[in-house]
Amino acid sequence: MLGEGILKGLGETARNFVGSYVSAERLTTVQYPEERAPHIEATRDFPFLVYDGTDWEAGLRCVACQICEKECPPKCIYIVKSTDKKPDAFGKPQIYPTRFDIDISVCMSCQICVEVCPFEAIKMDTEFELSTTDRFGGLLYDRKELAKSNEHYHKIHPTEAAEVDARLAEEKVKVDAKARAVAAAAAAKAAAGPAQAPAHITPKLAAAAAEGDKQE
Ligand code: SF4
Ligand code: SF4
Repeated sequence: MLGEGILKGLGETARNFVGSYVSAERLTTVQYPEERAPHIEATRDFPFLVYDGTDWEAGLRCVACQICEKECPPKCIYIVKSTDKKPDAFGKPQIYPTRFDIDISVCMSCQICVEVCPFEAIKMDTEFELSTTDRFGGLLYDRKELAKSNEHYHKIHPTEAAEVDARLAEEKVKVDAKARAVAAAAAAKAAAGPAQAPAHITPKLAAAAAEGDKQE
């Protein structure tokens, strides 16, 4: 029926309006800024960069792969890669961003940067009170302003952060096992000594081959 959706919407509004006199559950507004509605876990505003440990600079998970910069629809991420490597929070040498800016006056909170990041390095924050009188510089956030701890991530998105931690721990176990296997293979090779000539190469054949090389 034409207009059925509008009638349903008006009915729901009326139900909440009348119901709010008898049930606090139906109050859909709060007296902001004195009161704040609690944010739900799925809330997302602008991205932030996750770091592990206590040193934001050393602990940034971002390895400056620039995938998010390429995929961001309004192109509001600006990254410059380092030319050297330095240890990350787990001691592994990594390329890092010497510059990582997001122009949040352009960001449309689409979360695509989060979806495409292979390193769980960028997540969506819940902070929204970011107004400033500086239209340009004040809304261009650099890596220091964007860096927030993994504890912050756990506080605002506990379920998602716990899943990410479990996934990273699982990957670390696999990487460590692979590194141990490579080290063990190298040690075994070193212990076996220099490579021996195949059994069918007798000293006589080797001497004949050497003589042939000289004539050439
Ligand atoms: S949330 Fe979307 S618009 Fe904002 S920085 Fe990420 S990809 Fe770009
Ligand atoms: S945030 Fe993720 S996708 Fe973006 S540059 Fe850093 S590691 Fe790459």
